[in-house]
Amino acid sequence: MSMSSTDSEILDRHEAATPGSREAFARATAVMPGGAKGAYFYPPYPVYMERGDGCWLVDLEGRRLLDCANHHTAQVLGHNHPVVTEAIVEQLARGVALGGPTGIETELAEELCGRVESLERVRFCNSGTEATLHAVRLARGITGRPKIAKFEGAYHGSHDAVEISVSPPLAAAGEPGQPAAVAGVRGIAAAATDDAVILPYGDIAAVEEIVDRHAEELACILLDPKAGIFEQIDGFAQAVEQIARDQDILLIADEVVAFRLARGGWQQMVGLTPDLTTYGKLVGGGFPVGAFGGRAELMDRLDARNGPTGFSQSGTFSAHPIAMAAGLATLRQLTSEAFLHLDQLGQRLQDGLDQLLTGSDAGFSCVRAGSLFSLHPTDRPPTDYRQVATANRSSVLPVFHSLLQQGYYLSHGLMMNALSLPMQMEHVDGLVEAVGVALEQVGADGNG
Ligand code: PLP
Repeated sequence: MSMSSTDSEILDRHEAATPGSREAFARATAVMPGGAKGAYFYPPYPVYMERGDGCWLVDLEGRRLLDCANHHTAQVLGHNHPVVTEAIVEQLARGVALGGPTGIETELAEELCGRVESLERVRFCNSGTEATLHAVRLARGITGRPKIAKFEGAYHGSHDAVEISVSPPLAAAGEPGQPAAVAGVRGIAAAATDDAVILPYGDIAAVEEIVDRHAEELACILLDPKAGIFEQIDGFAQAVEQIARDQDILLIADEVVAFRLARGGWQQMVGLTPDLTTYGKLVGGGFPVGAFGGRAELMDRLDARNGPTGFSQSGTFSAHPIAMAAGLATLRQLTSEAFLHLDQLGQRLQDGLDQLLTGSDAGFSCVRAGSLFSLHPTDRPPTDYRQVATANRSSVLPVFHSLLQQGYYLSHGLMMNALSLPMQMEHVDGLVEAVGVALEQVGADGNG
């Protein structure tokens, strides 16, 4: 990334303001490659967090930051919601992991099935990655077909079957209407790319043609709408559902992020009835969790009462009681009124950002769905991966740092941010103003 003088000034300010984080990162990298996990890193080093409370984070230096990322969107209630904390403490007092079901997982399963019409049965695991792994495996096992279809630019976790064409270099990615399957990272089995059929977001004719060509080998289509990241195209999800139905291919909705959008999740909003759905993030109330579920006829293959069917799903910490308790308490806070508030916050943010960005020469646009939002260095809101991949991203990191220095913590790529329930309109208005200041700072030397 080439640095303008303004950009390096912004990074200098970061270094000057965060000596504690610099030291903590240096210590971490001596024992962990590049720190705790890939997603935490941004240059020159990430800010370390001390604690969170409501919609605020406090970093190691004692700075108060409005949390607009909310742990990769998982913390829909913000931090330390008293009801969630109470549920965790109560569960903790009974022991952490007891080697048998406790019943709390049944309550969470009932809560989920009660909210989502397409869910008759659900199983818990430990991450969104595991959820898509088990859903894909179930789809393959039931259909007896080897391939899966997924969309270019979609992330469904870090197992071989799905970490394909997540952010492929364009030189290797093929034609826009015929995307190639490109391994997301080194070390993925070659068979995984052979078995992945890649679809372009937004292009119904191309999706139809590609699915049609591979129909006999396709077990499932995995669809994450990337709402709040890509601008949604009316009717697209419904068209994908129809294509899956026509070809007798299972449709798996990935709602690891999108469940944040409504009481019954994204599928309720758009009127979709997937065969299987995957969950994660907020369903564990801040603890590691994943879940997958769908029609009884499909999910009941996992029922051990049926004897050895060849299907199975388990895991040492699956349905962990603390995660179940935290998730249940979180979901119970997510009433219709709560979603109304989250949507109103999101609408206010979008109105403010649209006013700031539209017709300006800032070169940024905003995509928003419910409480999820992204800032893109594009003149128009992108609708697919290629539009994001071809954008000049040189101003993204300086804008992120400028916002951080103003007290607003977003994801460092500026995509997949999330508002939280304790926020009020003034927090959102402050964020809009800070974005204006950031763009001015970064654009001061023509870099924006
Ligand atoms: N699916 C989607 C849509 C995601 O955004 C993610 C993670 O961000 C995953 C699956 C994987 O979830 P996890 O990180 O819990 O493994």
